[in-house]
Amino acid sequence: MESPLDPFSAPNPQAAWRALGLLRDYFQAKADRGDERVALTPRALTELRAVVMRKPARGAVESRPPVATAQKQVVVQAPVPVELAPAFVRPAALPETERVARLSVLREAAAKHPPVRALGTLRETMVFAVGNPMAEIMFVGEAPGAEEEVKGEPFVGPAGQLLNKMIVGMGLERSQVYISNICKFRPGMPGQDSNNRRPNASEIAASLTFIEQEIQLVQPKVIIALGATAAEGLLGMPNVMVGRVRAKFHDYQGYPVMVTYHPSYLLHNPSTSEKRKVWEDLLKAMERLELPISEKQRGFYLPKGQ
Ligand code: URA
Repeated sequence: MESPLDPFSAPNPQAAWRALGLLRDYFQAKADRGDERVALTPRALTELRAVVMRKPARGAVESRPPVATAQKQVVVQAPVPVELAPAFVRPAALPETERVARLSVLREAAAKHPPVRALGTLRETMVFAVGNPMAEIMFVGEAPGAEEEVKGEPFVGPAGQLLNKMIVGMGLERSQVYISNICKFRPGMPGQDSNNRRPNASEIAASLTFIEQEIQLVQPKVIIALGATAAEGLLGMPNVMVGRVRAKFHDYQGYPVMVTYHPSYLLHNPSTSEKRKVWEDLLKAMERLELPISEKQRGFYLPKGQ
């Protein structure tokens, strides 16, 4: 039986993962209130049973159409509980020790997450996240590259050096922010050396649950999506052109998301005008965070005389 909530058989696996994430948040919010009972319609029960009993066929996920091109939307036909109407239930903010503990559990789960490992297209070494679990700002990239894989930390290669400069330009330190990726493993390639590739739609869809849970734990005031892959994953937008969606805030479950160019883009297009675009996106994030902004900071990467 094909279930719209089974990511292995859903016509749009990304939407299915998102729906499952919503259900998880809903159940968590109920449990946090001490309510451990859930009423299910017979149809919902049958579908959930089908998901739980079904073993993913080898290669099932690879054979799905790419998320970005899947046209059919998942329609959940079971009656939606009234409490879901406000769209998203944000879990209570946790103290730092609890966040650290839960992130560590999440890290362990990510290392062996069956839907990701079943793909067989991602390398073995997991690179989870780095930074402050109490951060007000979260940077989300696409996937680790060669340097990150060696060091086990996101954004430590050339793109990471540039990201560090941006963070310092904002008057912050790397240790004050949280840095993660949509995909926690370096995408594999035949005969791979130092060359990297973008994660594909199946890899993004199978990994999304982790960045979603990281966001719910850290609860940043602003998320910066670095590049098209991060924007596609977080915002569920297909075929993102960063130039068209940057410079304004988007919504991810109540969290403001600023999309900007990936630092790797700036390494390949190092003109002052492109750097200025990214800097203007970061200035908007700083304003939203009510960080102090000096005149000097406002003028970074402006052509002389402006
Ligand atoms: N690019 C990314 O998107 N993430 C990293 O961790 C490194 C490079």
